[in-house]
Amino acid sequence: MTAVPQEDPPFSAPHWSGLPAPHAQRVRMQPLPQPVWGDWNEALASSLGLAAGPSTAWLQRLSGHTVAAPWCSAYAGHQFGVWAGLLGDGRAHTLGCLNTEQGPQEIQLKGAGLTPFSRMGDGRAVLRSSIREYLCSEAMAGLGIPTTRALALVGSPLPVQRETRETAAIVTRVAPSFMRIGHFEHLSHHGHRDALRQLFALVLEDFFPACAAEAQPALALLQTVIERTARLMAQWQCVGFCHGVMNTDNMSILGLTLDYGPFGFLEAYDAQHICNHSDRSGRYAYAQQPLMGWWNCGALASALQPLIQDAQATQNALDTFETLFEANLLEGFRAKLGWRIHQEEDALLIQQLLALMQRDRVDFTGLFRALSVQEPSALRTGRLQAPSWVGVDSSHPDWAQWLQAYDRRCTQEPGSPQERRAAMQGINPKYVLRNHLAQEAIEAAQGGDFQCLHALRQVLQSPFQEHPEWSRWAQPAAPGSPQVCVSCSS
Ligand code: AMP
Ligand code: MG
Repeated sequence: MTAVPQEDPPFSAPHWSGLPAPHAQRVRMQPLPQPVWGDWNEALASSLGLAAGPSTAWLQRLSGHTVAAPWCSAYAGHQFGVWAGLLGDGRAHTLGCLNTEQGPQEIQLKGAGLTPFSRMGDGRAVLRSSIREYLCSEAMAGLGIPTTRALALVGSPLPVQRETRETAAIVTRVAPSFMRIGHFEHLSHHGHRDALRQLFALVLEDFFPACAAEAQPALALLQTVIERTARLMAQWQCVGFCHGVMNTDNMSILGLTLDYGPFGFLEAYDAQHICNHSDRSGRYAYAQQPLMGWWNCGALASALQPLIQDAQATQNALDTFETLFEANLLEGFRAKLGWRIHQEEDALLIQQLLALMQRDRVDFTGLFRALSVQEPSALRTGRLQAPSWVGVDSSHPDWAQWLQAYDRRCTQEPGSPQERRAAMQGINPKYVLRNHLAQEAIEAAQGGDFQCLHALRQVLQSPFQEHPEWSRWAQPAAPGSPQVCVSCSS
């Protein structure tokens, strides 16, 4: 049976639309004037069963012109460790859900104007930050890491004031749900017991049906979120992704990477790297992320107390985070190094590698990709064939020694070197969204040219492929080029 093209998709109400006002409410949008296509993600569109776009009808719809009464929701959160009170969808409008082969998917516009939760904001998103969110959502999906998706980017000449005058844009985000830890915190903090119970029940039914069968469903849900968050943190660490603003209002209840702002990927390896210029204390530095993931699960645990009512069981659940994370991380780094079997020495070899990378500020993505394409004969003699920008000086005895130890460890693996290399190339990306790449796409788009955005999005969606024509995008910025500084301003 061929799919019927859906030119006018029937949006259904989001799963949380039954929450009482003001926790969920219908609002109007302020459409973007003179919208232009920035990009239409044809790969995602076809997986959602949207055969028709990028049509004029979709351009109108995704710039806020045609859907009459979308929804927005209330949430709260802890920002940089401090209770921030009511936040909510200040610039996000849910158009509704599409029924897809992957189940209902919520379609949300970011930047379509004011809502009752806009506080001091203008309800807009600038082209710069929208491009970053658009590209990184798809880069993470390409890496196989749970994330919200991005269906389209629409630009407009509408001026928006940030540090300088910029122009507005809208990213269309897609996810089974954008529910955050902060949604639970909001209802719990204000003692809205009935609404909390209602939110819990619908999240349980829609996304955690297995937990409903457990003796303590709320505890089971907490445990599942802990497991997913621990796995997500390990996945972030394994690709060097730094989120930048891991506040509880930016943490997905489904374990998705959510709300791309001042994020970054590690380049010259530094475990203490802080990607967000606004994060003065380094609360969300790369090495801190797992701890902050655990802290955020603690905030969810507190919010769920009225439903769990068992402090000891809650503590026991939170105590599983570290072990779960460590196991996922070790497994992740083993896979990056091409190891399937477990050996006593593995953790030490990984530690030694990271210490050398830290000392020499080695390019994180470049090093693991170089190991993935290495001829075993070179490793045996303690050499690494890699471009100079990777930053490994294998004439240094420490590196030679590590590379030989690595080679010996690899020979204990059951498969052939060819199989191992193929597996490693499917795990260690050639391409990640380095800040200067996003900047290149932003500057072209600000000049009206979206070709770079389009090509970069496609390369990032398949980051394990060679794409030889785009090899320069695998490299860090040229030495001496201006540093891209990202902060919470978007
Ligand atoms: P963020 O820092 O983007 O995660 O946003 C934190 C809170 O501020 C959320 O409630 C957002 O909806 C809100 N917010 C951020 N930027 C704006 C804006 N330009 N207009 C209205 N609300 C915003
Ligand atoms: Mg946010």
